[in-house]
Amino acid sequence: MKITKKILYPAAVLVIIVAGAVYLYFNAASVSREPMKAAEADTIPLPTDYQEKILIETGATFGSLMANAGIKSGLIQSIYAAAQPEYDLANVRAGHFLELNFAPDSRVFKNLVYKIDSEKELRVDCKIADEAEGTDNVCDSRVEAIPYEIKTVVKEGRIENSLYADALAGGIDERAIIALADAFQWSVDFALDPRAGDTFKFIYEERYLNGEYQMPGKILAGQYINDGKKYQVYYFKESEDNEGYFDENGNSVQKLFLKAPVAFKYISSGFTTGLRYVEAFNVSTGHRAVDYAAAYGTPIRAVGDGTVIFAAYNGAYGNMVKIRHNGTYQTNYGHMSKFAVKKGAQVKQGDIIGYVGSTGFSTGPHLHYEMEKNGVKINPLLEVLPPGQAIAQENQERFFNSIKEWQAQLDN
Ligand SMILES: [Zn+2]
Repeated sequence: MKITKKILYPAAVLVIIVAGAVYLYFNAASVSREPMKAAEADTIPLPTDYQEKILIETGATFGSLMANAGIKSGLIQSIYAAAQPEYDLANVRAGHFLELNFAPDSRVFKNLVYKIDSEKELRVDCKIADEAEGTDNVCDSRVEAIPYEIKTVVKEGRIENSLYADALAGGIDERAIIALADAFQWSVDFALDPRAGDTFKFIYEERYLNGEYQMPGKILAGQYINDGKKYQVYYFKESEDNEGYFDENGNSVQKLFLKAPVAFKYISSGFTTGLRYVEAFNVSTGHRAVDYAAAYGTPIRAVGDGTVIFAAYNGAYGNMVKIRHNGTYQTNYGHMSKFAVKKGAQVKQGDIIGYVGSTGFSTGPHLHYEMEKNGVKINPLLEVLPPGQAIAQENQERFFNSIKEWQAQLDN
């Protein structure tokens, strides 16, 4: 069981004296606790009675969890009412925790902390008026950013099988791998492009709470060398409402089209079991499309903004969606099992438009993906698109200064 440092250290001197008796007494009386980890078991047991971390199980309600933890109904109501303007505790989610903190000496309730998502937590602090009755309490709530401790790390590797498999084998958190691949989603198609010998390197934040690793934070900079060609991305906050990834020249990495109509997370199991390329654009065989083999039901995304001009069964193509992006480009997606859009819909880049299937003339679930330029089918993998929007002139110096150190690390 964890005790937050804030509570533990100031209290430790006093508490240690009565630790033995108190520890035994309250441990026996307490509710759901996390099992003690092996490393902690080796150290002198500290009193752990002042925080209870309650796992929210499916079907449990806030009221029942609090009552099970021994909180009186009047206080439960005070906490609930105080939280209401910020967050409705009736919506607590299974798999999350309710953290209850108590005063170390009296074990009077002090506050509740609930992590709403990976970024924000709800805190409800109470002054207990009458402990016996649990009424007339003064509780105060606020939602604030979770105070992670941030560590910056540099990781790198070489492709033998796939970015996913090789980065995972290198001990990199899966969530960081997906975030890195997402930053390259306009420039690299991780289903088709990777070659053995490609290399990747990236600098990102790791988030800790009380010294314990929680999750990856921001990807700060990344590099993928594909078949000798170097791609770099750098995080930059240009203004309050414009932050994202830019290349080494200060152009946004976001382009007119995504490289692939299927997101990296669905190809994450690599070449052998995940999504892979079946047949590329080939003029001589007459296959003017790219086929991606993917599991039945894999979401298909619009590669760019546009209007759905066709969404219906279309002979050998099976269930097909066509998107007109502008006066020049159109993309077509065939063999879908299910549509997610209707004709006439406006779609944004990355929107789900349907799901992989095997309708029409198809021997197994795959996506048949075509790109048309001025009505002629072209190879989407070779189409060179204009670079993304450049950072505004007045922000360029700040950008190049901010990436200098990261760039040196990537190039090193
Ligand atoms: Zn095809």
